[in-house]
Amino acid sequence: MIYQGKNLSVALIDGTDGIAKLHFDAADESVNKFDAATNAEFKEAVTALENSSQIKGLIVTSGKKVFIAGADITEFVGYFQKPTSELEAWLLEINSTFNRFEDLPFPKVAAINGAALGGGCEMTLVCEYRVMGQSGQIGLPETKLGIFPGFGGSVRTPRVIGIDNALEAIATGKAHKPADALKIGFVDAVVADDVLESAAIDLVQKCIAGEIDWQAKRAEKLNPVRLSQLEQAMAFTSAKGVIFAKANPKQYPAVALAVEAIEKHVNLKRDDAIKIEAKNFAAAAVTPQAAALVGLFLNDQVVKKLAKKASQGASDIKEAAVLGAGIMGGGIAYQAASKGLPIIMKDIKSEQLELGMNEASKLLGKEVERGKLTPAKMGETLSRIRPTLNYGDFGNTDIVIEAVVENPAVKKSVLAEVEALAKDDAIIASNTSTISITELATALKRPENFVGMHFFNPVHRMPLVEVIRGEKSSDAAIATTVALAQKMGKVPVVVNDCPGFLVNRVLFPYFGAFDLLVKEGVDFAAIDKTMEKFGWPMGPAYLIDVVGLDTGVHGAAVMAQGFPDRMKPDFKGSIEHLFEQNRLGQKNGAGFYKYEIDKKGKPEKSADVATYELLKAVQDGTKEASEQEIIDRMMLAFCNETVRCLEDGIVGTPAEADMAMIMGVGFPPFRGGACRYIDQVGVSEFVALCDKYAYLGKAYEAPALLRKMASEGKTFY
Ligand code: NAD
Repeated sequence: MIYQGKNLSVALIDGTDGIAKLHFDAADESVNKFDAATNAEFKEAVTALENSSQIKGLIVTSGKKVFIAGADITEFVGYFQKPTSELEAWLLEINSTFNRFEDLPFPKVAAINGAALGGGCEMTLVCEYRVMGQSGQIGLPETKLGIFPGFGGSVRTPRVIGIDNALEAIATGKAHKPADALKIGFVDAVVADDVLESAAIDLVQKCIAGEIDWQAKRAEKLNPVRLSQLEQAMAFTSAKGVIFAKANPKQYPAVALAVEAIEKHVNLKRDDAIKIEAKNFAAAAVTPQAAALVGLFLNDQVVKKLAKKASQGASDIKEAAVLGAGIMGGGIAYQAASKGLPIIMKDIKSEQLELGMNEASKLLGKEVERGKLTPAKMGETLSRIRPTLNYGDFGNTDIVIEAVVENPAVKKSVLAEVEALAKDDAIIASNTSTISITELATALKRPENFVGMHFFNPVHRMPLVEVIRGEKSSDAAIATTVALAQKMGKVPVVVNDCPGFLVNRVLFPYFGAFDLLVKEGVDFAAIDKTMEKFGWPMGPAYLIDVVGLDTGVHGAAVMAQGFPDRMKPDFKGSIEHLFEQNRLGQKNGAGFYKYEIDKKGKPEKSADVATYELLKAVQDGTKEASEQEIIDRMMLAFCNETVRCLEDGIVGTPAEADMAMIMGVGFPPFRGGACRYIDQVGVSEFVALCDKYAYLGKAYEAPALLRKMASEGKTFY
């Protein structure tokens, strides 16, 4: 044994002539990662390697399913609060170990058996060669966390796979599967998993025997990129065009800092290049975007842990049923079937059943086209959905998800009807968007078996499911519903009951703020443009067009009844007015915008002058608001209601609230969610903004919790 640590070891491989194995296999962890302890051990291992005279070559292996997952993100929060000079020093210290490893006087081959991501990928890049098993993956996902590769990755990647490939890999953060990795030169060979280690040894032996010029390969990484100035200029110009069209540098500055660093250091030798990388990495690490994105990663873990806890004691769901084959019912049936769960889909209209089945076929057909599904599997999936007009088989299903029209009377009668037919212990769930679960439960004999299971539209794409606990819902019913949401590939967040639950309760004041701005005369298109620039995937007018103005008006009435002090306006809003003019949004071709179906069959949005004429009836001013005023007013309404949901115990933690907003309504991920946004504005500053706009109504007034936090100097995170 040359070195033995807790997380990694170095030993000579028996039966070889001087080939050593650096083996990552973290004790007490399910994956290998570069946490502080591993970094320290790696440094010790490198010293041991430098001091050993028996080694002629080395392979790097992993004892886990994942090769190395990357740096330890939980440690980032502490590091990223340090001054940039300290951050740079930290990086240069780690890099000196990586460089010393790279400079060892013998060839090294990484045997990538699983995901080699971030620091894991950078570890393989300090080897001369990379061999990948069929289960391997390689990539640099750091920009998704608001940073970029900092263990020499931005320096070595362009030297190994070329400037254009490197910029793309870093900007997209994509994990490359074997064929793809081989194609762009990220790995040098792909082999079957069971011969991976012997293939790596074989390659080292060839290097030792002088059959392969490994020193030339190493030299490529130590020297400037071998491209003329003109070739470099072309590579950067074209890559930047593509990258910045996708990642707005203001919203995702890490990508811009990575590109800038690479452009500066491609003409330098390794050690100088790494200094530039460290400087720009530190600049990225202290941005609010990095704090938000790292926070998002950690919140995701919190939400998963809470869901795991909430699903304890869940019963197995072998068969489900959905009532209603509309937009949501059809989507729920598709989602269940595609995750292997048989589901009965009942409607009262046969044309709706046909529509639901056609929608599922269309989605599956697209997967077949993309080569993700075979036609046989598509047939199998479709056969899991059983469309029906009667309740024949409802006696066997373990859960019934109600997704009929959003009308409390209809829902109550349908729920009572289905309860009488279902097994005594069957769970009955409602996909209602706004109606209180406790209220709907009054129609049932077994309210303990009744919960809310709120999917988002389109079901196949939106990851969130709100699981709503009514006053009488049992823990067992919640557990089973949470487990089912996970089985269906969704992320469940358990919330308590109130009109609109969490996400829609927060969304309606946001639409209310929009309506008020429009009433004062602000151009709805300018509001959209501002909020999109802020980071929302679509502005509020476009969003309500997609949701449907009818759905919006319907939901608004329920919310106005539930929270009249801040959701019952004393004026007619633009959304209601356009709805009354039969402008339902995308679904009938006109809302705030006009829609025409394009060549791909998707509704294409365009401006509609007629909208401005119609809106005159509900406008009593000609206000031109600044971008900042629009953002402040919209975000105050949104964030204040989120805080009220925390105050009222509708949602348990800021982490769940923030994740729900990102997964359910597309809150800009780089802003981390409503609570993170308040933290980043500053709690006291946010309260001051609330005071500034309090004259507009209760929705803008600072909630008591926020005022208390401000006075105590507290933050959400
Ligand atoms: P939809 O109008 O598209 O579909 C409703 C379906 O229910 C129709 O096919 C109708 O024929 C059927 N139906 C009516 N009465 C029935 C009965 N007694 N038995 C069986 N089927 C019956 O509506 P949708 O948009 O799918 O919404 C369904 C539910 O999901 C509503 O509660 C809605 O609030 C909620 N929801 C909607 C969205 C959305 O964006 N559309 C998002 C989340 C939740």
